[in-house]
Amino acid sequence: MSEQFQAYQIGKNEDGQRCKLTQLDDSDLMEGDVTVRVEYTTINYKDGLALTGRSAIIRKFPLIPGIDFSGTVIESGHAGFREGDQVILNGFGVGEVHSGGFAQKARVSGDWLVPMPEGMDMRHAMAIGTAGYTAMLSIMALEEHGVRPGDGDILVTGASGGVGSIAVAILSKLGHRVVAATGRMNEKDFLTGLGAADVIDRAAFAEKPRPLGKELWSAAIDVAGGNTLANVLSQLRYGGAAAICGLAESINLPTSVAPFILRGISMYGIDSVMAPIARRKTAWQRLAQDLDKKLLDELSFDLEFTDLPKAAQDILDGKIRGRAVVKVP
Ligand code: NDP
Repeated sequence: MSEQFQAYQIGKNEDGQRCKLTQLDDSDLMEGDVTVRVEYTTINYKDGLALTGRSAIIRKFPLIPGIDFSGTVIESGHAGFREGDQVILNGFGVGEVHSGGFAQKARVSGDWLVPMPEGMDMRHAMAIGTAGYTAMLSIMALEEHGVRPGDGDILVTGASGGVGSIAVAILSKLGHRVVAATGRMNEKDFLTGLGAADVIDRAAFAEKPRPLGKELWSAAIDVAGGNTLANVLSQLRYGGAAAICGLAESINLPTSVAPFILRGISMYGIDSVMAPIARRKTAWQRLAQDLDKKLLDELSFDLEFTDLPKAAQDILDGKIRGRAVVKVP
């Protein structure tokens, strides 16, 4: 029997796109073999772009936004899941071309779902969300490059944001010396509390980069792009690596080949949306094991479901610190 549920829905007409909180029923859900009672969701930078319409993130209308959720399976035709299972969903086009997590109910392909790892609960999963899972994918890329604790400083840009704060917390727990770059020097105590050994002002990365700068970082995780990333690349030590996951400053990258051909540095592109399911499961298991729950509680805060539209603007304005957790009513 079809039941009504609460959801945000984004529609589009000749005046542009509009987001409203409304009542929908099962016929409004999209195709999929698993139906989930959504328990928690969160807000990511991409959700901010989607809800405000600042970028063309939503490519099918009408659509329920929200690229992340955790919840309980209520119906499954998928061999991997049955009623009562706790699951996590990130990306795979959910919240972009398939209805997502800003609703009490979601229907998706079971091939997109990650079973809740042991030692993690549904709230923690959304305190992590796509941002934290992307931080872990970035760390895994650096580890595969050969970066080890004791190798030297690792720089994390956008450190007060979602990806950045979780990257700082995990890397320092793993024994790396982490330098956090932020535009919010008033968050210095917050970042040292997460384990950063040093906190520096991101203004240092605003200058036009030289082809080769002083060799400062054994590795880096960058969420900014633009001049920031170009400076980071020219400051990587010989053989160093950067995991590149964001464009908070710019989609452009005004760099040269110099640090690549003279210092043998590497750059790893990180994509969370279409990452294969096996790599996702590994990342989520690592998150259950390598992210201190107390620090996760410190870097996350509760956000009301009804406050999501305001938070969408705030995240784009760089006003959100750490990670928002939304209990779906
Ligand atoms: P947040 O908004 O939580 O954090 C972004 C942080 O970037 C801000 O908090 C700020 O940190 C910093 N920042 C903002 N503006 C600038 C600027 N002009 N120059 C330099 N730094 C800036 O977003 P998320 O952490 O969720 O996401 C970060 C980026 O990663 C986004 O671009 C997002 O789209 C991308 N992303 C990519 C994914 C992928 O699959 N590749 C997945 C998830 C996110 P501070 O105040 O500390 O300087």
